[in-house]
Amino acid sequence: MTVRTRFAPSPTGYLHLGGLRTALYTYLYARKSGGNFILRIEDTDQEREIPGAVDKIYESMKQAGLSYDEGPDVGGDYGPYIQSQRKSMYLPYAKQLVETGHAYYCFCTKEKLDADREKAEKEGRAYKYEKDCMHLSKEEIEEKLAAGIPYVIRQNIPTEGKAGFDDVLYGRVEVDCSTLDDNVLIKADGLPTYNFANVIDDHTMGITHVMRGTEYLSSAPKYNLLYEAFGWQPPMYVHLPPVMREDYRRDKMTKEIIPDENGNPELIVRKLSKRYGDPSFEDLLDAGYLKDAVINFIALLGWSPRGEREFFSLKELEEIFDLEGISKAPSLFDMKKLAWFNAEYVKKLSPEEYMPIAEKWLRKAIDTEKFDVKRICELLQPRTEVFSQLPEMVDFLAEMPEFESDLYTHKKMKTNPEVALDALVKIKPVLEAIEDWSEAALHDAVMNAVAEFGMKNGQMLWPLRIAISGKANTPGGAFEIAYLLGKDETLKRLNSSIERLKA
Ligand code: GLU
Repeated sequence: MTVRTRFAPSPTGYLHLGGLRTALYTYLYARKSGGNFILRIEDTDQEREIPGAVDKIYESMKQAGLSYDEGPDVGGDYGPYIQSQRKSMYLPYAKQLVETGHAYYCFCTKEKLDADREKAEKEGRAYKYEKDCMHLSKEEIEEKLAAGIPYVIRQNIPTEGKAGFDDVLYGRVEVDCSTLDDNVLIKADGLPTYNFANVIDDHTMGITHVMRGTEYLSSAPKYNLLYEAFGWQPPMYVHLPPVMREDYRRDKMTKEIIPDENGNPELIVRKLSKRYGDPSFEDLLDAGYLKDAVINFIALLGWSPRGEREFFSLKELEEIFDLEGISKAPSLFDMKKLAWFNAEYVKKLSPEEYMPIAEKWLRKAIDTEKFDVKRICELLQPRTEVFSQLPEMVDFLAEMPEFESDLYTHKKMKTNPEVALDALVKIKPVLEAIEDWSEAALHDAVMNAVAEFGMKNGQMLWPLRIAISGKANTPGGAFEIAYLLGKDETLKRLNSSIERLKA
């Protein structure tokens, strides 16, 4: 049997990380099994569709490196791969179910259904459609159809017994049929519901393995009834637990933190959600996370490789991914861990790979023409967690920030503003005398002077770095920064810092 898996997103917005994980696992399983990976666009709920979202899906899949063997923009033998373009395929199947008594026409108006729903609510019971239209005679149905009365086609769920299906992770899942509603298969607009389309499409596209979120776990028994009604073999199901995130309890609308009864913020675990500002795949790429790091990280959100190793390329994942490693427990998305993961990937880039990415970010803060960007990159690479942090790491090169003189105070370095003023006044002529403005020359000149003055290194180097950068944390020390700024700018900054210390 050739494995055929599919990723079936609805075009309702950006690819969120839970969706990306489903896509990734689906892709990896197909590749590992030497099978086919299919992209299908599920756009039957056209009210929820967001313009441009389909193109975004193609783009995200491309960016993530998840190439599909069949799909709307690449073709294949089982197309079309966009549900709205398959519209005419579904009705004949629904009619077949009507013939066999597994489905029926329903002409109930929205008003009636709303009233029934309201009544159920008032009586405190769960609403279910009471099969009113199932009892229409063939003639009555013909008449209504001929009169053009709008209709839907509903699944005829047995009133008793059990419905169930087998899930790779959850085993046998069973529910009482009495708890299931006769859901709509074909809507009044002629389009199928997800409930129907997923079954028809998975079958007609020859899908062997379905991976999707656990939100479909409770409706999968209904889908199995459809497979049984058609006499089709259902695919293997792998329902994936949600990706969670630790956060403070927040108001749904305002997103403000809701304190507990003692007025403290309350930590909770909730589903990853765009609504609360959790990043999508695009957001992470835009914020300067490396694609490979994100993919590796997402792969580990709910799947564990055998052994201790954590770092895998997509190619390597394609070789080792297995269903056994998927966990039934919800996984926790941790931004700090992702940043750490990303930093590890950044460290492994060659300087040639690092520089063009970094330069794009550096340009937001400095005129890269004016600086030795190669040297800046050498200093930054081991310190880069996420590329979006680079502008604020180098902005002081463009303009010295305002700072308070207590920045000169450092216990361990044994400095304070007075020590600093003394050191800076002494080092000024030494710097002025340097002709070849290189890091090595700066180093030798300053260190010789420090020895001559009988000072501790830190008593000179700390104040000097503060005086020319205005910052307690900089990529590189006093010599690197002085070199990057150049002689004129270094002396200009040094003079103004001395003046301010004197004032
Ligand atoms: N269109 C569904 C969604 O985006 C996919 C469910 C499935 O994979 O069957 O949630």
